[in-house]
Amino acid sequence: MKVKIQIVVESDHGDSQVVQEIMQISRGALQPENLGLKLAEAKTLLQNLQHALAEQQVAEYSQQQELCLHCSQKLLHKDKRTIVYRTLFGKLHLQCPRLFHCPCQEQPTRSFNPVANLLPERTSRELLYLESKFGSLMSYGLSVKLLQEVLPIEGEINTTAIRNNLHTIGHRLEDELGEEKGGYIEGCPRDWEELPRPDLPLVLGMDGGYVRSYDKKSRSKGNFEVIVGKSIKADGTSKRFGGVYCYDTKPQRRIFEVLKSQGMQMNQQVTFLSDGDEKIRELQVYLNPNAEYLLDWFHITMRLTVMSQTAKGLSKKDTELDTDIPKELERIKWYLWR
Ligand SMILES: [Zn+2]
Repeated sequence: MKVKIQIVVESDHGDSQVVQEIMQISRGALQPENLGLKLAEAKTLLQNLQHALAEQQVAEYSQQQELCLHCSQKLLHKDKRTIVYRTLFGKLHLQCPRLFHCPCQEQPTRSFNPVANLLPERTSRELLYLESKFGSLMSYGLSVKLLQEVLPIEGEINTTAIRNNLHTIGHRLEDELGEEKGGYIEGCPRDWEELPRPDLPLVLGMDGGYVRSYDKKSRSKGNFEVIVGKSIKADGTSKRFGGVYCYDTKPQRRIFEVLKSQGMQMNQQVTFLSDGDEKIRELQVYLNPNAEYLLDWFHITMRLTVMSQTAKGLSKKDTELDTDIPKELERIKWYLWR
């Protein structure tokens, strides 16, 4: 069996039709592995359809631009240029006519390229979106492999481009973030009384960790502290955030915006959790007037576990005491819990 796949392009008025074959599929006797489309065929189909569709769109657009906007005179063709445009379904080489401007108006240049003017960015937004989405979730190399595996873009994307695009987006998000200020509590108790009844408390947990330079040139250089956190609403929906402590110029603004995006009102309670580290505590204050600051149990028990491990390594001679240290540590834990 042979299947031919064609597209039929109709003009808006239905007076002309273009039929174009974009793919042929052959099938022998039905086997489990040849039922329906295979991934490779689906990729070829998408790529061919994308080329045919884009070609028609560019041809129609170019034709519409051939008349002067002011006097409707037909514009003269100068030449054709090829524009490379990257999409989810393959790189397009678009043949775009360059036209001479109409002499009826003064123009800074003699000619122009309508399609090139329409597409100042040479990568489609959907491709940028997927590249950036996966690039922010996993390594750039893996993102390239994953996208090439499922989309017809073999050899058309690379780690450098993903990295550069992701950095551009990162800078844009940073620029959109408001200024850092001393406190984020807005209004006064009388204003807060007039606010609608707030949701149940938000819970925001934060923790820090050091990332050390592997070649350890010096203790201070190459090491940096990352602070990450998670804000959880009463219904369980959560948002994460993170920053590099010594580098971040707006750490509190970042946390405040996360809370605000989760609907925090000034009359709503927020429970801040931390391990008691001063830097983290400083970031948690002046964000909400009804804040409650708690040391979280996980961090307390983690420290006790470390101490218990140390205690196991102590010999009787080391301690020179009559106390059973592991037992005492266990008791501390229970006192704290109760
Ligand atoms: Zn004109």
